[in-house]
Amino acid sequence: MTEDGMYDLIIIGGGPAGLTAGMYAMRAALKTVLIEQGVAGGQVAVTEQVDNYPGFIEIGGFELCEKFLEHAKWYGLEILEKEAVAAEPGIECHSVRLSDGTLLKSHAVILATGGTSRQLEVPGENENFGKGVSYCATCDGFFFRDKTVAVVGGGDTALEDALYLSKVARKVYIIHRRDAFRGSKILQERVFSEPGIEIIFNSVVTEIRAGLGGVERIGLKDTQTGEGRDLEVEGVFIFVGFLPNNVLVPAGIKTNKTGYVITDEKCETDIPGIFAVGDLREKYANQIVLAAADGCTAALASAHYIETRKA
Ligand code: NAP
Repeated sequence: MTEDGMYDLIIIGGGPAGLTAGMYAMRAALKTVLIEQGVAGGQVAVTEQVDNYPGFIEIGGFELCEKFLEHAKWYGLEILEKEAVAAEPGIECHSVRLSDGTLLKSHAVILATGGTSRQLEVPGENENFGKGVSYCATCDGFFFRDKTVAVVGGGDTALEDALYLSKVARKVYIIHRRDAFRGSKILQERVFSEPGIEIIFNSVVTEIRAGLGGVERIGLKDTQTGEGRDLEVEGVFIFVGFLPNNVLVPAGIKTNKTGYVITDEKCETDIPGIFAVGDLREKYANQIVLAAADGCTAALASAHYIETRKA
């Protein structure tokens, strides 16, 4: 940490967006610190396999994150393993407060805090978290070797993780509320041709029930007929979308109705010098390559912003 806690740029969040921002900031010779409270890599770190990041036909999510981290550190990026609890806009400079009370200051701030899995909000979900209910196949799939599990959702995450689980579990049901998946066609084709996966369309989970040993069954409701039934499963993996981690977004910065930060094409928010990148920012699609691109854009724009402030 600098002696006076003053930086050119503070980046909050160490996923692909934040780490790429860090790399480009170092290339622009900005005095930069990246704050990350957990494992660097964000959501990608808990993704089993990535096969659409250019240059890598197939790479483990965690391995890809390690490469990002290694690359950022190679440029000499300072990484503080602390929790940021507030980003406070100022006139002369902006500030970031850490949970230990430290106040860091900078000309520009890049918010790269990503997002978190959305919950289904059905009875039994919270009570059985860790006892059969999971939001991460890579983390918990191992515990369901040769067992029957349900995957809930129809997006890329649900399809990718169902494919992963089909290699571990005895049987995987995919429960989706409509009759068509939202996830990419290539993943759909793989899911449809995987014999260990059975797809239940037009159905929602109404409750998750457990016994002493953990989850035993889920209640399903047919969205067309309204009919209910029980399905015996020992695990429920919930992938019904994503919510942006926007608690650090200062008041006065515009967000859309789902909480994603609205920026201009430089990834700059309504407050000059405060940028939002990656899964936190409203954009057409959420992809690792786009998060990295956001990080690059915001760092270049920060460098320009800081240059004009110092001139
Ligand atoms: P998503 O694309 O938003 O999909 C969420 C899925 O959950 C949708 O199928 C949705 O159904 C369903 N859903 C939402 N609320 C529900 C509820 N209350 N009950 C039942 N089902 C519900 O989320 P995601 O799969 O986590 O992906 C997030 C972003 O990351 C996307 O942009 C995705 O493309 C990207 N991603 C990319 C990759 C990759 O390229 N390899 C991997 C993972 C994620 P409806 O379809 O009916 O709305």
